[in-house]
Amino acid sequence: MASSREQTARFDNYINGEWRAPATGEYEPNRNPACASEMLGVFPRSGAEDVERAVNAARAAFPAWKATPAPRRAEMLFRAGQILVARKEQFARDMTREMGKVLLEARGDVQEAIDMLFFMAGEGRRLYGQTTPSELPNKMCLTVRSPIGVAGLITPWNFPMAIPSWKIVPALVCGNTVVLKPAEDTPHSALHLVQALTDAGVPPGVVNVVFGTGESCGAALVEHSAVGVISFTGSTEVGRQVNQKAAAQLKHCNVELGGKNAMILLDDAALDLAIEGCLWGAFGTSGQRCTAASRLIVQKGIYQKLLDMLVQRASRLKIGDGLDPSVQIGPLINEAQLQRVAGYVEIGKQEGARLCLGGERVNREDTRDGFFFAPTVFADVEPRMRIAREEIFGPVVSVLPCDGLADAIAMANDVDYGLSASIYTRNVDAAFRAMRDLDAGIVYLNAPTIGAEVHLPFGGVKGTGNGHRESGLATLDVYSEWKTLYIDYSHQLQRAQIDV
Ligand code: NAD
Repeated sequence: MASSREQTARFDNYINGEWRAPATGEYEPNRNPACASEMLGVFPRSGAEDVERAVNAARAAFPAWKATPAPRRAEMLFRAGQILVARKEQFARDMTREMGKVLLEARGDVQEAIDMLFFMAGEGRRLYGQTTPSELPNKMCLTVRSPIGVAGLITPWNFPMAIPSWKIVPALVCGNTVVLKPAEDTPHSALHLVQALTDAGVPPGVVNVVFGTGESCGAALVEHSAVGVISFTGSTEVGRQVNQKAAAQLKHCNVELGGKNAMILLDDAALDLAIEGCLWGAFGTSGQRCTAASRLIVQKGIYQKLLDMLVQRASRLKIGDGLDPSVQIGPLINEAQLQRVAGYVEIGKQEGARLCLGGERVNREDTRDGFFFAPTVFADVEPRMRIAREEIFGPVVSVLPCDGLADAIAMANDVDYGLSASIYTRNVDAAFRAMRDLDAGIVYLNAPTIGAEVHLPFGGVKGTGNGHRESGLATLDVYSEWKTLYIDYSHQLQRAQIDV
């Protein structure tokens, strides 16, 4: 299976345990963003007919998968985790080639999938409900989780294996079957995860993958009446449409969307530590993280010093192909993303922000064929400016001066998003106030805005989502329905709430 695909470098949809050519007959090249002339293979550009096939396969496989005891399902997930451990280096290298993130981060991406597989493998022996007394004699009450059916999963390109795992793995442990529509730019990493699940013994039809665009495949999946749950991660613009369409059919639906995350740095912050956090938060994954620190809100006492240190350190970051272990910043995902980032730099300049570093494409001999953008720092940014309010999704950080804690929290909260926030301070009172008052799903103390762990809930408030969470135990609520059981062994009609 793998060898024939490698020879031709042509990949197909994975439906009912078989590689199926798309009904459209169309394929799209998968390119290396560090070197766009390097083609890594071609992947299907599928249509609604392919989605139909995949949903039918998932629907047919559902009864047997649901009937498989959860601990048995979980053992397959555990084996898939072991397979990923063994293939981690190969999969990480393939991910760097198709997505661009540096190898160290690509290994972390695969590791996150491993962590999720091992975490949910344990959950197979729990999936705890509640047991509680009845208000009536000789009667007991309890709750159990039931799977929903077919889960339609739509993922972005910035965490090519981790995000598919955040969705597929809890969906499977709960007893659902799935159809995954991965991002157009990173099909191969999603396929690697599915291959590991297949090799671990997950039966045909339980996990299906359809490659293609959001407009054709993604939309067809959202609208398909046999898909009972939709889990989407991506932009707020698309997520809003997905949420509306799913709501019209009363589907379970979680949407995990954009961010405009702030780091607050107070005068008493440990500066060296804070700078490390700023660099990692703002420029890790070239700023293409939903949790990227794209705003630094800095108290006036350390403002100039922090800015100088930041510019100096950021100017020394090594940019290039992420397969080179000495490289710290890889390329952006594609030309369109690069143009979007460059467009925001122009907006920032026109708005009157002070460009202190970067702001342009890296135009060296070895980067010209890729989508490299220099780490960019804007100073004296005002909260009203678009670069302080809109998600840029690139290596661009806006530095805003503030007077103190209250001012900083007000600025941090004054955006449409609410994913992640952080504060650097040694003042216990300030830390607790910030943790209480920041409008965000995730708050870090003395750490940057990135660094989620799989056993904790992940997601945000306001424009970042629709109130659900991925990861942790919270994600189980997306992929299951509660069933409440009343067991009456009194041998008489007992009526709740009726006075006797
Ligand atoms: P995107 O919204 O363009 O695409 C995401 C996915 O949706 C892709 O698979 C795409 O093909 C699909 N899609 C596009 N149009 C669709 C439609 N009409 N119907 C159904 N599916 C459709 O986002 P992107 O550019 O791939 O990813 C970047 C965005 O993702 C950023 O905004 C980032 O903040 C967000 N993100 C959020 C989280 C989170 O957990 N909150 C995590 C990572 C990325």
